[in-house]
Amino acid sequence: MRRVLVTGGGSGIGRAIARAFAEQGDEVTISSRRADALLETAKGFAMHCMTADVTQEDQVAALFDDTPYDVVIANAGAGKASKVANTSLEDWNATMAVTLTGVFLTFRAAVADMPEGGRLIAIGSTASLKGGANIASYAAAKHGVLGLVRSLALEMAGRNITCNAICPGYVDTGMAEAAISGIMKRFGVGHEEALARVTAGNPMGRLIDPGEVAAAALYLASPAASSVNGHALALSGGEI
Ligand code: NDP
Repeated sequence: MRRVLVTGGGSGIGRAIARAFAEQGDEVTISSRRADALLETAKGFAMHCMTADVTQEDQVAALFDDTPYDVVIANAGAGKASKVANTSLEDWNATMAVTLTGVFLTFRAAVADMPEGGRLIAIGSTASLKGGANIASYAAAKHGVLGLVRSLALEMAGRNITCNAICPGYVDTGMAEAAISGIMKRFGVGHEEALARVTAGNPMGRLIDPGEVAAAALYLASPAASSVNGHALALSGGEI
């Protein structure tokens, strides 16, 4: 049984990943800021729930005890849509703190005592691999995640630990729903039209299911992916 940590495990992609690892018999710990959301994810599973804000160094450190994790999945992330000209320094810094620094703090704590064969997985985005109008701070943070992943992969290779990123397009979670609502408000269109605009970037023309991201995480954590290191695994229907 492996010990697995999933940040942002209280909803969306993190919830799907946590449940997928628990279903295959791993010992899963989930964390995020909202305790009620964590308990909802854990319902029916033997999971540990720990509240922590990934932007806070001491709270991230508190997720790690004397028993190291075999698999650490830095999934917590957030972003606000706005054009560069309209992005306040406060919003820029807030996006960086959660989406980039949160991954750094999580992985730095994880590698201190991670055993041989360990796995570090970041949830990046297609925005790790390309820019987009109105998402500069999020794309900059997600590009940063990939730089961190590729560098850490080289640092950890000698310890037989891999570090990879999963880079999905729009996934059917609260975050995609927020993007859809934003388009509805900005352009005065209905839900169907806004959904069509969001999925237009994916050549398959649909939202990605959180279970597809969980399946990719299971693969990267499996023996089959032992030599996959510093990789950005795009789940984008061909967009990337
Ligand atoms: P959700 O909004 O459902 O999940 C985000 C999670 O991050 C929540 O569980 C939230 O929990 C947690 N979180 C946010 N801020 C913090 C913080 N400061 N400290 C700790 N946890 C935090 O969206 P998704 O599941 O879609 O997003 C998960 C990841 O996937 C993110 O990194 C996102 O950027 C990425 N992604 C999402 C895509 C999509 O279309 N949905 C596409 C590509 C990538 P809480 O509020 O309780 O802290």
